[in-house]
Amino acid sequence: MPVYTRWTLVFFVLFLLIMMCSSDYANPPGMKAPWPGGITFKVNQGNFGPISHNIPYTFYAWDFDLPLFTPVVAAADGISAVVAYKNDGYGNRIQIRHINGHYSLYAHLDSFCVYPGEKVLRGQIIGYSGITGYTNGPHLHFSIIDKRNYSLPSKFSDIGVPVEGEYCTSQNWLVCPTL
Ligand SMILES: [Zn+2]
Repeated sequence: MPVYTRWTLVFFVLFLLIMMCSSDYANPPGMKAPWPGGITFKVNQGNFGPISHNIPYTFYAWDFDLPLFTPVVAAADGISAVVAYKNDGYGNRIQIRHINGHYSLYAHLDSFCVYPGEKVLRGQIIGYSGITGYTNGPHLHFSIIDKRNYSLPSKFSDIGVPVEGEYCTSQNWLVCPTL
């Protein structure tokens, strides 16, 4: 094998290794916890949780233990794309489309405070937590998803990538628009 071919092979393998090791988060810039600032909730189930985060639609989801009727806020600025009940397990859900083309998903909600197509600000109350869809109790199922509903790896700027059992204090304070 000529020397240049060998080096090409070495660089190709190195390139593949770097690509495989580099993590890439799909969250919109500055994404924060999806409930009001200063409040702490526990992660009931993290990414790849064995109870229900074990399929591609939910691999990168979190279940936060929000009690019934807790305000749920937008994790980042965007446009509310889906505000609806569907019989697919998520119950009442909101999907907000963000600047990077992906969506944040808020599932099992009790009620909605936004209409489809509305511009929403990070920290704005979009709904209230509930027990709709397939769930044993009130909680918020949250993840970043693509347009085919597959969950994508993501990271919060305030609570990082929390794991099961962790207590997370939101820093998602509503920034009031200037009048
Ligand atoms: Zn979940």
